[in-house]
Amino acid sequence: MKHANEFLKESINKYCAVIGKDPLLVQGAGGNVSWKDGDTLWVKASGTWLADALDKNIFVPVNLVHLQLAINSGDFTVTPKVIDNSELRPSIETLLHALMPHQVVIHLHAIEPLAYLVRNNPEFEIAQNLKTNISWALVSYQKPGEALAKAVADAITETPKANILFLQNHGIVIGGTDIEEVNNILTNILTDLSIDPIVNNVTTVNPSPILTGHVVEYFPIENTNLQHLALMPEIFNRLKQDWVLYPDHVVFLGASPNCYETEEYLLKDIEKGYEPELAFLREQGVYVKSNFSLAKQVQLECYYNVIIRQPKEAALNSLNEKEISDLLNWDAEKYRQQIAK
Ligand SMILES: [Zn+2]
Repeated sequence: MKHANEFLKESINKYCAVIGKDPLLVQGAGGNVSWKDGDTLWVKASGTWLADALDKNIFVPVNLVHLQLAINSGDFTVTPKVIDNSELRPSIETLLHALMPHQVVIHLHAIEPLAYLVRNNPEFEIAQNLKTNISWALVSYQKPGEALAKAVADAITETPKANILFLQNHGIVIGGTDIEEVNNILTNILTDLSIDPIVNNVTTVNPSPILTGHVVEYFPIENTNLQHLALMPEIFNRLKQDWVLYPDHVVFLGASPNCYETEEYLLKDIEKGYEPELAFLREQGVYVKSNFSLAKQVQLECYYNVIIRQPKEAALNSLNEKEISDLLNWDAEKYRQQIAK
């Protein structure tokens, strides 16, 4: 007979495989899930994809008591202790899971809540739209890791019954007794916070590749919808000022977009030896070099899905230079970026 926790593990793996394949919920290795089993916290390993949950072992067991003792003493720099000899490394967001008191916790960079969380003053709009009767709290933007864990701990102290935390410029954390409860909460907030994209009736044609005369060639990005980023002036005009809206974006796609008014400017850059992997050409197309990775492509899709859910008048809260450089000089993210290549 199966132990109750094996059923839990199975149901979690199935759930991860489903949500992991939905680009409006999970992008690549982003997002993570955990469950607590006595003194053990099972958490998604860094760099693994939730979508692979049924094909690979993506969870790593860590000592929960050790983490809780550290948290209670105000130590948010604690390194989780892996219990077996797993070579997997626990997610860099493990502390968020240890902090939440619930048995099952999911943390997602879900597009619709995220579209609110990148705007100025998201709290007001979220409160206005949430019809679900649930306890929640907003955590202001903090760099993932120690600072975010500390802010989350404060939010939980202030709102101990919160089942959902909205992390500004980042994502959501939902806690429940089982997958069913977590999924109900997620489904409700997705309904309450759903947003119609501004590109509903816009068709797209894929542009032709750019031949540079050298070895470097630029191809239109595979996902045709992403061409809207260059073809729709209202979106193209947003790229520069509203480029870095949440941490994973800058880690995978860099601190600034390569926007060109015409193809000639891109060709000039290439001649000078600057060959961006990803380039936006106004009213012409979105282009990538052939080595543009899948992890980067899913990040760009995430950005696209967030930006097409912004009304024209929405003022966005882009990360500032200091916040961006803190993210780019961060060892844990460098590790993740490396294994995501
Ligand atoms: Zn996150």
